[in-house]
Amino acid sequence: MKIPLTLNDILAWLREDNPERLKTLWGWADETRRLNVGDTIHLRGLVEISSHCSRQCGYCGLRVSNNSLSRYRMAPAEIMASARQAVAFGYGTVVLQAGEDFGLTCQWVTDVVRQIKRETPLAVTLSLGERTEAELDAWRKAGADRYLLRFETSDTGLFELIHPSRGSRNASRIPLLRHLKQLGYEVGSGIMVGLPGQTYESVARDIDLFRELDLDMIGIGPFIPHPQTPLGNGELKPFASPDQQVPNSELIVYKAVALTRLVRPDANIPSTTALATINKRNGRELGLQRGANVLMPNLTPVKYRKLYEIYPAKACIEETGSACNGCLQTRINVIGRQIARGPGGRKRRALELEVVC
Ligand code: SAH
Repeated sequence: MKIPLTLNDILAWLREDNPERLKTLWGWADETRRLNVGDTIHLRGLVEISSHCSRQCGYCGLRVSNNSLSRYRMAPAEIMASARQAVAFGYGTVVLQAGEDFGLTCQWVTDVVRQIKRETPLAVTLSLGERTEAELDAWRKAGADRYLLRFETSDTGLFELIHPSRGSRNASRIPLLRHLKQLGYEVGSGIMVGLPGQTYESVARDIDLFRELDLDMIGIGPFIPHPQTPLGNGELKPFASPDQQVPNSELIVYKAVALTRLVRPDANIPSTTALATINKRNGRELGLQRGANVLMPNLTPVKYRKLYEIYPAKACIEETGSACNGCLQTRINVIGRQIARGPGGRKRRALELEVVC
C-alpha cells in the first residue's frame, strides 16, 4: 500500500536540507524509477529547427525583442539530415523544437513530419510553442506522436507576468495541454525552478499538478538568467519574500525531479540540459540517479547551436551530434545503466513504492 504524498509532504520535501533525509528521497525516487520504467535510458535527439520567435517571454533569450541574436530557420533537407543522424545513432525519437515561429507554417511542418515518418522509423515529438488547434490537429494527422509544452509555473499571476499572452488567448497553457491529449498526442510538460517570484508552495503545486494532468513526459530544469531578458537583467522583478522564494539551485531541481517520479511513477522524465548546464561535470548523471530516465542529446548542426540561446552557456554548445552521442554513451555506462532502443513511449504501469514521510 502506498501512503500518497500530500501537497504538504511535497512542500516539506522541497524545504528539506538534511543530507541523510535527502538520501532517502533519492533512494525512493531511484527505486520507483527502476520498478516502473526500468534501467534503460531513452535518448531523444533534439533538433532546434528555428530560433525565430514572435513572443516576449521574460525568461527566454529567443524573445522577439532580443536584437542581439541572429536568427535561423533550418531547411527541411537539414532537418532530414539530423533525423537520419538520430537513426544512425540508434535513437528512437527526434524532437523538433523552435521558438513560436509563424514562418514554420502549418503546411511546412506537416510536410517535414510526413517526410520523417515516411523515411525513418522515428517517433516525432514537436515542441513549437502555442500553436492553433487546427495546426496541432493537422500535425497529429501527419504522424506527429508527441508534443512538448511546459506550463513553466502553475502560479497564474507569475506566468502572466513572465509570459505575456498573445491577443485574446488564455495565458495559461493548461487548457492547450488537455487539448493535445484529446488529439491523441503523448503530452509532455514541465517547469523551470527558481524563477524570480516563484515560491516553494507554487513548486509544490506544480508537482501536484503533474499528478493531476495525465502527462506522459515531465521536464524540470533550473531557471538560468539570460542577460538579454527582463528577468535576467533585473528589469522585471517579480517578488517573493526571501523565505518563500525558491532558489534556482541544482539541489532544488533534484528534489523536484525525485518528487515528480514519486507522484508520476511511470512518466518519462528527462535529466535536462539546463541541469547539465549548471553542473556540467555530473548534473545529468545525478538527475538520472534521482528519478530521471530520459536524455535529450543535441542533434542541431553546430553552426546553429550557439544561436539557439534560450539561456547562456548551454551545455554541449560546441559539440557535434556525434561527440554528444559518444559522451552520453560513456556517462550512461559509468552509472551502470543501458541505452534503450525503439521509440520508448509511456508504458503506464505506475507501481508505487510504500513511502512514509
Ligand atoms: N517555444 C517553445 C520552446 C521553448 S524552449 C515553447 O515555448 O514551448 C524550451 C524550454 O526552455 C521552455 O519551455 C523553458 O522551460 C526553457 N527555458 C527557456 N528559457 C529558459 C531559461 N532562461 N532558463 C532555463 N530554462 C529556460
